[in-house]
Amino acid sequence: MSLSSILGQERALQRLRSILTTRAVPPALLFHGPQGVGKATAALEFAKALNCEKRQDDSCPREGPCPSCAGADKGIDPDIRKVDAAYQASLLEQEEAKQRSIKIDTVRHLIRDLEMRSMLGRWKTAVLEDAHTLVPAAANAMLKTLEEPPSRTVWILVTHRPGELLATIRSRCHPVPFAPLAADVIMQGLLERGIARPEAEAAAPLAEGSLGRALQTLERAQPDPEEWLAAPLAPFELADALPTGLHLARPLVEDQLHRMEWHVRRSLGPRTYASAEARAVLRELSDLRRALRSNASPRLVLELAALRLQEFQTAGSPKPP
Ligand SMILES: [Zn+2]
Repeated sequence: MSLSSILGQERALQRLRSILTTRAVPPALLFHGPQGVGKATAALEFAKALNCEKRQDDSCPREGPCPSCAGADKGIDPDIRKVDAAYQASLLEQEEAKQRSIKIDTVRHLIRDLEMRSMLGRWKTAVLEDAHTLVPAAANAMLKTLEEPPSRTVWILVTHRPGELLATIRSRCHPVPFAPLAADVIMQGLLERGIARPEAEAAAPLAEGSLGRALQTLERAQPDPEEWLAAPLAPFELADALPTGLHLARPLVEDQLHRMEWHVRRSLGPRTYASAEARAVLRELSDLRRALRSNASPRLVLELAALRLQEFQTAGSPKPP
């Protein structure tokens, strides 16, 4: 893995390469952009490249990486702190599922950690995932250290919701924007991860620019339309099985809508253009998704969508004799 292997983010990589080349490393960087497009991976690769002993352009030679990069690849580099729910849970001796925000104790610990001089003048990096969950006191503690940063230390704040960060933090960070991925880039990412081509072709156009979302859709154990299409009561049973909390039900319905669209696209087979009927169903599913996002009842959306898909299926299959 190296910075160059991050797909479809030329603009962000260009900025990072120029920082590496000029060695003018800002004390804080803000990696922002949609979820699942490579921000956190890029942050770790950048941190690795800062200490690389054999760096050419932006990465270590593929054959025979330097000891520093080899350590980072194994996740045992003492100078790279990857701060996520698991890190905070183990630091504070709490349950991982309960880590919903980045707390002041975590940031204080990181500040002390970064201040301790690293061996041999190496760079120390803290990568904060979901940086928008920093509690205000933690953000303010970080601000103080950014005013007089210890040398050779970098904070990388990673977020898909930069607007939720304190304005004072945002203005101290050097922004590195990440873009939604093109469908062909997602396709390539899925194939590289061993997803079969037909599945990748169906999932990539639905992923809304996020490789992470495409992988989620492919991995989540939701019932596929094939499993319920033939059951007349399925639309109501699916709706009944939804959790009552709207914030819990909405992502599940969104996911089921993706699966239905995927089913329609797959049923078209190798034909390059969709039939008028399939196009109509896809349009209706996309209208329902929009309604879901503007607060329509998840239950109702799911029922309507499932009934519509069953209707499409019956119209398309040969009539029984
Ligand atoms: Zn290296």
